[in-house]
Amino acid sequence: MIKITFPDNSVREYKEGIRGLDLAKDISSSLASEVLAVSVNGEVWDVTRPIMTDAKIRLHKFDDPEGKHAFWHSSAHLMAEALEALYPKIKFGIGPSIENGFYYDVDPGNGVVITESALPKIEKKMYELARQNSKFVRKEISKNEAEKYYKAKGDEYKLELINELEDGTISLYTHGNFTDLCRGPHLPDTSTIKAIKLLNIAGAYWRGDEKRKQLTRIYGITFPRKNMLDEYLDLLEQAKERDHRLLGRELELFTFSSKVGQGLPLWLPKGTVLREILENFLKKVQKEHGYLPVITPHIGQKELYVTSGHYEKYGKDSFRPITTPAEGEEFLLRPMNCPHHCEIYKSKPRSYKDLPVRLAEFGAVYRYEQSGELHGLTRVRGFTIDDSHIFCRPDQVKEEFVKVIDIILYIFRTLDFKDFTTQVSLRDPYDREKYIGSDENWEKAEKAIIEATEEKGLEKVVEYGEAAFYGPKLDFIVKDAIGRKWQLGTIQVDYNLPERFELEYVGSDDQKHRPVMIHRAPFGSMERFVAVLIEHTAGKFPLWLAPDQVVILPISEKFNDYAEKVLNFLNNYDIRTLIDYRNEKIGKKIRDNEVKKIPYLLIVGEKEATSNTVSIRKRGEGDKGAMKLEDFVISLNKELEKTF
Ligand SMILES: [Zn+2]
Ligand SMILES: [Zn+2]
Repeated sequence: MIKITFPDNSVREYKEGIRGLDLAKDISSSLASEVLAVSVNGEVWDVTRPIMTDAKIRLHKFDDPEGKHAFWHSSAHLMAEALEALYPKIKFGIGPSIENGFYYDVDPGNGVVITESALPKIEKKMYELARQNSKFVRKEISKNEAEKYYKAKGDEYKLELINELEDGTISLYTHGNFTDLCRGPHLPDTSTIKAIKLLNIAGAYWRGDEKRKQLTRIYGITFPRKNMLDEYLDLLEQAKERDHRLLGRELELFTFSSKVGQGLPLWLPKGTVLREILENFLKKVQKEHGYLPVITPHIGQKELYVTSGHYEKYGKDSFRPITTPAEGEEFLLRPMNCPHHCEIYKSKPRSYKDLPVRLAEFGAVYRYEQSGELHGLTRVRGFTIDDSHIFCRPDQVKEEFVKVIDIILYIFRTLDFKDFTTQVSLRDPYDREKYIGSDENWEKAEKAIIEATEEKGLEKVVEYGEAAFYGPKLDFIVKDAIGRKWQLGTIQVDYNLPERFELEYVGSDDQKHRPVMIHRAPFGSMERFVAVLIEHTAGKFPLWLAPDQVVILPISEKFNDYAEKVLNFLNNYDIRTLIDYRNEKIGKKIRDNEVKKIPYLLIVGEKEATSNTVSIRKRGEGDKGAMKLEDFVISLNKELEKTF
């Protein structure tokens, strides 16, 4: 007999060889019909794999990430089976599950090209094969056997993967007519895959290496129920309309130039207004919270990043060092601004009474990303981070955490991110060796974070073993207007950099001590934050953020003078206003400006000019009638005040 421990810590005895599926059946038949994978001592397994030793288990349905993984990864196998049936010469790279669905990288064989027009055909084949209810069968084999199998099949990609595996860890999975090199886990059979959609095709270099062959990557998603697929496709449609790359162009916020370089965003005037408002908003809050602004250069000596450890992390795989012509000095484009701030901390002696020191900067940083990974403003090579640093005593960690949480909550409230959760990442209690810093400080900091989140009443998930080796952290995960999750806002404790930079303060005991460093970035990067904001608001920025708040539409040229009078009046109140001087019909002017999502359209003609009024159209609400110019300004100011 073996002992099985369930998530509620109850323990039951079972016969050796019991399977996850049997455990689910033992609980209820409905659970057994929904269970997709099982965690066995932290490793995710097929529910049909026999458990031979005492084990802690967790059963996973589709709503768990582990359940989705098994479902989507099995679907990748199903797609591969369909592809092999349709393209007999095809060879396979890798086929993982991803955040939403799965993909498979394939080499269709000489002269064969798979395009998007083939997707319906592949989808149809997948449905046909799924209905055969083929079982996924796992077989553990030796490295030798695996090599033999793929040599015979002539798949050099799988052979390369096998070459890197250790003998004794290799397994094959077969379902229907398809066998794949795979660790699993998979579904018991294909029958649960009820809804299938292949989404698109892209090129992908084998092993992500630009020098190697470009394979065809086919993306798809599947669900256990048809209505779930419909909902997902609907969400995709909404997401498409909110795509920040599209809206960024339409609203003239930012652009890219191949001449300047890929992944290097160029902020256009309107985007710059938006960004500056956001930056000034955070600067103001930070000032109120005792942050001191600093400015540091975009590059630093290579030695600086060797000291900080960033060279080890980013050096090899990032931009090459810049060297000076005469002295041969080496500089790096900075991947982070933390090392510079450590040197500012060190610029003078610090006493316990000086702490905390809070240094704030919007710092431009540069990291190399492969061109295939670049995506709008969310994956770029040059960006600006609001990573600021708090240097404090160990006993101040909690108070500082509470203050940073306050800043983040204020930002979320102001920007209308109502739905969010937090994740607290702590040490792995069973493997304390891999973390830097004293036990005492870790315990203090972890307790401080938990207490701070409790004090603030934050909904949280605690993840053990998810902390960085240098300190625990708190992340905010925000749901946007269409329910997608974004990680925004991080507070990270760091024992490593103070150690590496030998930071000190003199304590009340006259002895030297190490301060604790806290990195915190409420926005993260400005680029990514603006992207999220665009997608969250669908480009309909609230009045205080809108690059253009008001546009004046004269009915004809005759009223341009009055339009200018209105413009000057509004400018006096710092209301960002422009005039549409085009010689177009008023109906067309209204439609064109509505597309630009400007909060207020003011129509001015004879009636308005003689009565010193404006006729107002409000975004999303339509015609609001005429108003005295003074009253309009008062109502705008009221709307702005309500925001803060
Ligand atoms: Zn697999
Ligand atoms: Zn930092």
